[in-house]
Parts: sequence; structure tokens; C-alpha cells
Amino acid sequence: MSKTERSSAAARGEIKFAADRMLGRLAKWLRVLGFDVIYGQHLTGYGLIRAARAEARLILTRDRSLKQKQPPPFIFVDSDHYGDQLRQVIRECGLKPGEGLFSRCLECNAVLQPRNKETVQKLVPPYVYASQDSFSWCRVCQRVYWPATHHEKMLAALRKIAVL
Ligand SMILES: [Zn+2]
Repeated sequence: MSKTERSSAAARGEIKFAADRMLGRLAKWLRVLGFDVIYGQHLTGYGLIRAARAEARLILTRDRSLKQKQPPPFIFVDSDHYGDQLRQVIRECGLKPGEGLFSRCLECNAVLQPRNKETVQKLVPPYVYASQDSFSWCRVCQRVYWPATHHEKMLAALRKIAVL
């Protein structure tokens, strides 16, 4: 896949990633930005290749030996630091990092759904219920999300590494 092809796939929301198990922080930050990334301890070597092939995902890896295993398209991630890693993936895929911010579950990668305030009263701490008006949740793991201080911290971190 060429950079132009990746870039137009990203623009259509079709680009999906499979991150190898060494890239947990990168996977999490791509999810913060709203991108579809699978990640887990089984995603290494042929397991990673199989998973990527099954769902036409672009592999993100730090494993230099992967290319000897005839993988589908992949990006070799150069740096050990998540900020550099994130910038590399954004650059090479032509991603627009602001568009899907906080739209995906950080735990299980599902797209979050909006949820009415009244329906989350029993699911969140009372001070959160009292102070927040907008909630979303993950159908898969049932986690409820709301914009609060952790969003601010994540935004600050993304600005610090010059992604936003
Ligand atoms: Zn979830």
C-alpha cells in the first residue's frame, strides 16, 4: 500500500491497524485519536500476520524479523518513544488526528455510543453525575465515558508531543 493509498483510505475511515504487542502505548494513543487498532499479547509473529490478514489491517511493528515471514502491508515503527511512533504513523498514513478524538473505547476498541444522562445515574460516581452532562458508553465492555480531567490530560499530552 502506497502512502497515497493509505492516506485516501484514512480519509474514508477505512484504515485499520494491528499493533504488535510491543506497541501498547502507541495502540492506546491511536484509539484516543479514534483510530481502529487491535492490540494484545497474542499479536506477535504469525499471530499478528494472521490477525492483520483476516481483517485487512495495516500492521504496526517494531519486529525486524517480521518481514521474513511474508507479512501483508506493514509499517516498521522506528522509535521506542510513543510520541515519535504516533507522529510516524500519522505522517506515513496521512491521518487527520483531530477528527475522531475520544470516539473509541480505549479498552476494547469499539466505537462509543452517546448515552442520555438519565440512563447512567447508577453507572457513574455521584460527583460525576452531578457535574457532567454528556456521556458515552461502550456496548462491548459497558464502560461509561465522560469528558473530564482525563480528557484534558490526554489533550495536553497530545499537544506536548505535537500531534494536535
Ligand atoms: Zn469497551
